[in-house]
Amino acid sequence: MTQYKVRIVGHQWARDAHLLKDFLGRNRIPFAWLDVDRGDGASSMLAVHDLTEARLPVVILEDGSTLEDPSVADLAEAMGMHRHADSTYYDVAIIGAGPAGLAAAVYAASEGLSTVVVEREAPGGQAGTSSRIENYLGFPDGISGGDLAEAALRQALKFGAEVLYPVDAEAAQFDAHYKHLRLSDGTEITTRAVVVATGVSYRTLHGPGMSELNGAGVYYGAATTEAAAAADRHVYVVGAGNSAGQGALYFAKFAKRVTMFVHGESLAATMSQYLIDQLDSNPRIEVIPRRGVVAALGSEHLEAIRVENLDGGATEDIPADFLFVFIGAEPEIDWLDGQLAVDDKGFVYTGRDIPIEQVDWPLERAPFHLEASIPGVFVAGDLRHGSIRRVAGGVGEGSTSIQLVHRYLAETD
Ligand SMILES: Cc1cc2nc3c(=O)[nH]c(=O)nc-3n(C[C@H](O)[C@H](O)[C@H](O)COP(=O)(O)OP(=O)(O)OC[C@H]3O[C@@H](n4cnc5c(N)ncnc54)[C@H](O)[C@@H]3O)c2cc1C
Repeated sequence: MTQYKVRIVGHQWARDAHLLKDFLGRNRIPFAWLDVDRGDGASSMLAVHDLTEARLPVVILEDGSTLEDPSVADLAEAMGMHRHADSTYYDVAIIGAGPAGLAAAVYAASEGLSTVVVEREAPGGQAGTSSRIENYLGFPDGISGGDLAEAALRQALKFGAEVLYPVDAEAAQFDAHYKHLRLSDGTEITTRAVVVATGVSYRTLHGPGMSELNGAGVYYGAATTEAAAAADRHVYVVGAGNSAGQGALYFAKFAKRVTMFVHGESLAATMSQYLIDQLDSNPRIEVIPRRGVVAALGSEHLEAIRVENLDGGATEDIPADFLFVFIGAEPEIDWLDGQLAVDDKGFVYTGRDIPIEQVDWPLERAPFHLEASIPGVFVAGDLRHGSIRRVAGGVGEGSTSIQLVHRYLAETD
């Protein structure tokens, strides 16, 4: 019998319940979901703990303690997750624990640097949400993003990196010698060097109902915790890139049917051929070109989507419970408050790409290959201008950034 660390009681379509499930799922913490609308033993579970449906979702922990309508941070705190830094000073802080950040952590900690990693959601980043990564070297049969993330996290911890999550880096102040970071638990840490590996976050769909129904039928990324609820249902996917293709293949394992709406004439320009071949040969998946989803309809949860034919503009409302959106991503840099030079899309310039005449570069030497426009601040992975936006690229850059951190620390000693 599965030993659950956590039980969550709530409404299937409630966004706050979705956030808790997503957090636990992404951090690979086994939990039982009890949907009050389906019975599922939810009422008796509440009654046993002297609770009512007044403040859902309710979380019941392994030791019997309960939380009513908690935030993700409350839940993490109650579960004793490592959210507060042990020290106020480190050689290097790595912001973001996707492939780039975790690779940097493994190299930094294994090479003797005191290392802290700050992660907002779950180690693994975008890669952690992938159902199967098939092109990462060394895994000829593919590997799930969750397995890869767990192994990488274990490796970083083994070498002594301190990994804080879920904790946001909320603000940074970089000066010539020290870098100061303000974290969402209210503390500040000071470091000598920083590796910024905050990657990108999902671009959202705009249109009536989209934000209101986000988490209540409209989901970004694979949202694997919700995929099980989509069993035997018709699932709709928007997007034409590799992540959309992987998502559609994953949902087709559960769903009765998966329909993908894509803007272009075909997937050829936007998706790897191996994924196109797998979609083509899956009888449960249909790909409909030249369509966009322009509205999400429903009061408490998604009931229909409005689909526009991009040739002519005619629209049609289609009954739908689940819409999964994969329409690209935007760089995560707001917290840096404009301190680093970026390109017109917000990706951070490093090395030779930095428009040096436009920034106040204080050193005689040129910026190192992965160094941003402030000495001692390095950027690795998807956030970097010119990154190849692949797991292997992030891992390579994260590892390389630590070599450059050593050079920077040597010159400032
Ligand atoms: C569904 C999907 C499938 C994919 N499949 C493949 C594949 O098969 N092969 C492949 O090579 N690539 C694949 N990719 C792309 C690959 O996952 C990315 O290139 C890679 O994850 C980028 O790594 P990264 O470390 O730069 O950034 P990310 O993975 O984006 O990680 C950044 C991390 O930083 C955290 N963060 C952001 N802001 C803050 C902050 N202020 N404070 C603290 N933490 C913060 C985020 O929570 C996140 O965990 C896929 C991507 C997706 C979404």
